Amino acid sequence: MLSVIDATKRFGEHTALSGVSLEIGAATTTALIGPSGCGKSTLLRLMIGLIKPDAGRVEFDGVNLAQADLVSMRRRFGYAIQSGGLFPHMTARRNVQIPAVRAGRSKGDLNDRVAALAAMMHMPQDALDRYPAELSGGQRQRVALMRALVLDPEVLLLDEPLGALDPLIRAELQTELKELFAELGKTVILVTHDLAEAAYLATDDIVLLKAGQIEQRGPFAAIRDEPKSDFVKAFVEAQMLRVGALTGNRTGGRS
Ligand code: ADP
Ligand code: MG
Repeated sequence: MLSVIDATKRFGEHTALSGVSLEIGAATTTALIGPSGCGKSTLLRLMIGLIKPDAGRVEFDGVNLAQADLVSMRRRFGYAIQSGGLFPHMTARRNVQIPAVRAGRSKGDLNDRVAALAAMMHMPQDALDRYPAELSGGQRQRVALMRALVLDPEVLLLDEPLGALDPLIRAELQTELKELFAELGKTVILVTHDLAEAAYLATDDIVLLKAGQIEQRGPFAAIRDEPKSDFVKAFVEAQMLRVGALTGNRTGGRS
């Protein structure tokens, strides 16, 4: 569905991605993981056409993004970033509506959609008329996810969607996201620096990056048990203690 083909991306002297090739199948959940600065966000932004590769290409359903009409193409992507990226001067409701209004839908038509998304994301209806500063961190993230979903995109790209949350709220949203991904059956590409989160949400397809290149790709068990390099081994060992804590049962209220 999405193919990155031998893509290289430089920022000045710095090569953020170097000859990366990656195929993403429809209705799969993939986690991009690796240390800070390894190129995860750059790869995600490349896949959505927000930045262009210096060499290589990205294809979505066989169409080269460089030749595509990016405006209509982007409607097929839902994108959410770590801080949520909400507009502070707009209510939560307005923030959710924005991509749909930009796509030419009238606000009146969107009320049902916003209400359905709020129910899906366990967002209280009355909180929708508050501004981002009046919401909790967890609620802001729910709003960002609602916005990413408002146009019912084929692909959901999430850049450390839970990175800014405290551990309890983070665990709660991880549980909800896992349910949501299963329910929606969309293609999901998720960036995280947390192997436990990757293992929990994208058990079968983890892509581990190192310094702008793919070091290893596979199911969590293969990355854990058959590391291809000392780097993978060290990365896994450094994070393993956290994995056990995340694969147990999840309970708790909403925030
Ligand atoms: P990650 O998301 O894995 O932490 P990024 O993809 O954000 O890493 O960044 C990869 C590298 O590219 C980093 O060294 C970062 O500083 C650099 N980089 C990313 N975006 C830019 C930019 N717009 N201008 C200059 N350098 C950038
Ligand atoms: Mg990043």
